[in-house]
Amino acid sequence: MKNIHVSDVDIQRFAFDQNGCEPKMVEHIRTCEKCQQRVDTYLSLADIIKGQPKVTPDYDLANLVLGKLAPSKKTWTIYNYLIGFIVFLVVGVAILTIGLYQNTISYLLDNAFINQAYCFASAIIFITIILGIDLFKSFNRKLKIVNA
Ligand SMILES: [Zn+2]
Repeated sequence: MKNIHVSDVDIQRFAFDQNGCEPKMVEHIRTCEKCQQRVDTYLSLADIIKGQPKVTPDYDLANLVLGKLAPSKKTWTIYNYLIGFIVFLVVGVAILTIGLYQNTISYLLDNAFINQAYCFASAIIFITIILGIDLFKSFNRKLKIVNA
C-alpha cells in the first residue's frame, strides 16, 4: 500500500470529509508524505477560494432576462382583426351562396361525380384557408422576433 498512492477523489474526500474514508486509506495518507502534501494542497486551495470576495453584479440578471421573455400585452393586433374579417367574409359568402343557389346545389349534389368534386374542392378550400391563417400568424410572430 505504501507504493500505491491514493486517488485524487479519495484525497479530496479525506481533506474535506474524513468520515467517509476507509481506515486503510486514512492510514496511508497519514504515513505517506506525498499524499499528505496533496491533502495540504487541496486544503490551502479551498482556503484561497473561501478568502475570495463574493462577487455580486451591479445589475439584476434575472430581471433583464425576464424583461426579454415577457410576452407582449397587445395580443389583438390589426392582423388578428383582418383574419377574423376574412373568416367572417368566407363563411358569409358560403352561406349566401348556399341560400341563393339552393336548387342548383341540390341538383349538383344529386349527381355523384359533381358531388365528389364539390367535397374535394371544399376540403381543399378549407385546408387552404387554415394553412393561410397559420402561415400569416407565424410570419407575424417571426417578424416580431426580428423587430424585438
Ligand atoms: Zn501516498
